[in-house]
Amino acid sequence: MATPSHRRSLRSRRLLVVSAAVVAAGAGAATLVMNANAGGVDLYRQTLAAKDGWASSGAGTTGGATADIAHVFTVSTRAQLVKALGSVSDTAPRIIKVKGTIDANTDDSGRKLTCADYSAGTGYSLSAYLKAYDPASYGTSKLPSGTQEKARAAAQSKQAKNIVFKVPANTSVVGVPGTKAGITGGMLQVQNVDNVIVRNLAFSATEDCFPQWDPTDGDDGNWNSDYDSLTLRGATHVWADHNSFTDAAHFDRANPKYYGREYQIHDGALDITKGSDLVTVERNQFTNHDKTMLIGSSDTDSTGKLRVSIHHNVWKGIVQRAPLARIGQVHIYDNVYDTTTLNGYAPLYSINSRARAQVVAEDNYWKVPSGAKLARLLSGDGTGSVAGRGNLVNGTATDLVAAYNAASSKKLRTTVNWTPTLTAGLTSAKNLPAELATTTGAAVLTAS
Ligand code: CA
Ligand code: CA
Repeated sequence: MATPSHRRSLRSRRLLVVSAAVVAAGAGAATLVMNANAGGVDLYRQTLAAKDGWASSGAGTTGGATADIAHVFTVSTRAQLVKALGSVSDTAPRIIKVKGTIDANTDDSGRKLTCADYSAGTGYSLSAYLKAYDPASYGTSKLPSGTQEKARAAAQSKQAKNIVFKVPANTSVVGVPGTKAGITGGMLQVQNVDNVIVRNLAFSATEDCFPQWDPTDGDDGNWNSDYDSLTLRGATHVWADHNSFTDAAHFDRANPKYYGREYQIHDGALDITKGSDLVTVERNQFTNHDKTMLIGSSDTDSTGKLRVSIHHNVWKGIVQRAPLARIGQVHIYDNVYDTTTLNGYAPLYSINSRARAQVVAEDNYWKVPSGAKLARLLSGDGTGSVAGRGNLVNGTATDLVAAYNAASSKKLRTTVNWTPTLTAGLTSAKNLPAELATTTGAAVLTAS
């Protein structure tokens, strides 16, 4: 079985051989091998290994590995991060080392910003908004419009300008080990670009100060928020590895209710939408979150794309969407799902396959409290597939699809139109709970 450090050194060795060959052309083969064995490529220039999920297909995913010295940045503040990211039109390979925790809700001088700072001057106030769109007077048939909605949108756009970080193509954003590296309160946005690596970052507290009321969403209306901690929109070749995602310190159970509905300030943790494709999500930890991972934002998001591999992640204290998969060929293997309620996050389901999604779920391990209904680990709309084998529930081989289908009218299909081949590290689920406890999330990688 390949441990993470073993796979890292393999990856490093391959890269070293290439660079050594370029630099020291003419050196003998013995020298190259010696150099290759002498040390590893540093964390920041590592690339996705061959066959490691969908992001390894085609040209693979190298991020900013070939960045020249002028494009290697170390950042510790929001302003430094913005500067290092530059413009999305500048596709020169770049490496951004995140040292410590960057608070997205700070101004250019590092001063803490509150929701009131964003709404100042817009005329928005929550109490005025609640008065304006109260279903008792405004009704439930149309979206809010008028003065207070305009003011809300203006305040929201001020927050967005501050907390959304746009990542250009050919970029690696990597946390510096030992520094609690991460982004709090922000959204890393990978939109319509190719070849991006995001590693070793702790994402927390991505919150929308200005949720929008939508009385037409569902039977009773919903409060909707705008930001995911990491969002992929039309992005290709993305490797998200060894990151942590959590709502902490504000958990959903502390959300108030307005118009009888939860005032939800969170959106996704890691959403993969709008024709994104060729993505590998590996060795992350997802905890304390409701709508965790959306693959495809509507039933018509895109055809022939949304191909995602999700492996060796830990999902704990997750309500739903782990992931919600639409349309694409999605491989979910060697994950650990702990469906014990945590900090008020009570699981609805783990994996949802809809809009003809072609999901292969194999060798995953579910930890389930005694008495829990196994039919509730999956979900679907009657058109999605879930194939696969080797899934364990509390250590026992279990056919989750059969359990779900026996209890549901919208049955999951059990055949898919593809066979996964990019399956690095695929192994039996038996030892995953112990193995993933110490090899996932931010703060386990070392510098080389
Ligand atoms: Ca949303
Ligand atoms: Ca989202």
